[in-house]
Amino acid sequence: MKVTRGQIIARGLTNRCPNCGGRTLFEAGTFFKTNKECPRCGFKIERDEGFFLGSMSLNFGVTLVGFLTPVMLLAYDNVIGTTFAIVLAGLGSFGFPVLFYRSSRSWWLMNYYFFLPQHLPANRATPETRGDENT
Ligand SMILES: [Zn+2]
Repeated sequence: MKVTRGQIIARGLTNRCPNCGGRTLFEAGTFFKTNKECPRCGFKIERDEGFFLGSMSLNFGVTLVGFLTPVMLLAYDNVIGTTFAIVLAGLGSFGFPVLFYRSSRSWWLMNYYFFLPQHLPANRATPETRGDENT
């Protein structure tokens, strides 16, 4: 296997192409627009409709666990005031998912290829190894 799981994680955490490590998954000058394919290797980034629904779930979960729960716990322990916590949670529940959008897309691709690294074009079986589909 040419691309290891460690490389897939490193590339996923830095918004790089999981196949070649090229920058970046997103169109230059835009924040939300994903490239249809990697400009360096041609790896198809845009998938079937619904593929990135998982990234929305991931974004929701990270917002809930990584932002809203700590705010709630800080308010519960009286570290911050209740009114401030409500305002912070209200603003953060919209702002955090926007800021985490790019990472959630990249992490979702990372998650997919971490468990199915043989699906990466760089790891596809060569004619010599084609006998075993799981390699
Ligand atoms: Zn690439």
